[in-house]
Amino acid sequence: MGRCAKECRLANVCFELLLTDHPPQNINRLANSPAASCFVVAPLCWRSSVRNMTKEYTGKCLCGEVQYTADGPPIVVAQCHCEECRRLSGTGHTVGAMFVLDAVSVSGKLSEFSYSSDIGSEVTKVFCASCGSPIYGKNTRLPDHLTLSLGTMDDARGLEVEVVIFERDKPHWDQLGEDVVSFATQPD
Ligand SMILES: [Zn+2]
Ligand SMILES: [Zn+2]
Repeated sequence: MGRCAKECRLANVCFELLLTDHPPQNINRLANSPAASCFVVAPLCWRSSVRNMTKEYTGKCLCGEVQYTADGPPIVVAQCHCEECRRLSGTGHTVGAMFVLDAVSVSGKLSEFSYSSDIGSEVTKVFCASCGSPIYGKNTRLPDHLTLSLGTMDDARGLEVEVVIFERDKPHWDQLGEDVVSFATQPD
């Protein structure tokens, strides 16, 4: 394991090999290799090396009480089919954009709910206290980060799902695109 030469924000798990200029389709092809645990991070490195354009994203809940701004680009956009995300969303998956904590500011009254993940980290889901829209999630596994619910964003143009996790738990009635890196659960 090398460190990411391009200083991606999750640098400590990056392979030098994957930092060059692999387009996403090559990353897909390599997803079954022993280095699979690096694949979530590798597209991020690749992304951060080509997406230097910064953009401010804004969003709000259903009732409008909670609003946020986030300085992008996000680190990654991920779709999760885990049971908790399914119940949280009331549908087959959540889609979230991960940012460093400092890049996001949120206003309005929030409520939260925490639980333990499979690997023992604590996950906290944060909602609008009035209308219940899921605004963001946090995980003690990556303490300086949060993941905004993409559906609350006002304009998510330019963002796409880059990785699917907990594909194992996907209900049969939820469709999945073909050209996406997916993991049965999550990478180590
Ligand atoms: Zn609300
Ligand atoms: Zn999930």
